[in-house]
Amino acid sequence: MKTCVISLPDEVATLSLGAQLARACHSAAVIYLYGDLGAGKTTFSRGFLQALGHQGNVKSPTYTLVEPYTVGDRSLYHFDLYRLADPEELEFMGIRDYFTQDAICLVEWPQQGAGFLPSPDLALTLRYVDTAREAELIAQSPLGQTWIEQIEQGRNPA
Ligand code: ADP
Ligand code: MG
Repeated sequence: MKTCVISLPDEVATLSLGAQLARACHSAAVIYLYGDLGAGKTTFSRGFLQALGHQGNVKSPTYTLVEPYTVGDRSLYHFDLYRLADPEELEFMGIRDYFTQDAICLVEWPQQGAGFLPSPDLALTLRYVDTAREAELIAQSPLGQTWIEQIEQGRNPA
């Protein structure tokens, strides 16, 4: 599967990566967001939501585990599973309903929900590089593959 690494020198770069992926995303999709605390997963999600047209806050759903958004005719669920004690809790939350809808799902700390989440289209890992960050994108489906191709084309105009 296709992969790429993108350097993110500042917060604006993280926001704009989120925006680029949002613009490439025209249907239901699942993106896993890996990375340590403060790596930029919520920042990425904010850039993604704002590019879809969301105008309000994007707060981290650390305690609620999921924050639902409706932007125009699109549904997006932003998960933060950091505090999920047991992946089985996802069953009680009705996780299947979230993923069976025609929704975009952004999932921070997906490893916490292992075994109870659908497989993603894209796995994105944010890493610290001194005070900046880099993102590694790994396509996990044909849809994810097309996103990476679009991002590469956007960055290297022929
Ligand atoms: P996470 O959700 O991964 O815990 P957040 O997005 O909440 O992380 O916080 C990331 C922090 O790092 C914010 O303070 C943000 O301004 C900053 N940040 C985001 N992207 C970058 C970047 N590319 N370079 C430097 N700082 C960044
Ligand atoms: Mg976060």
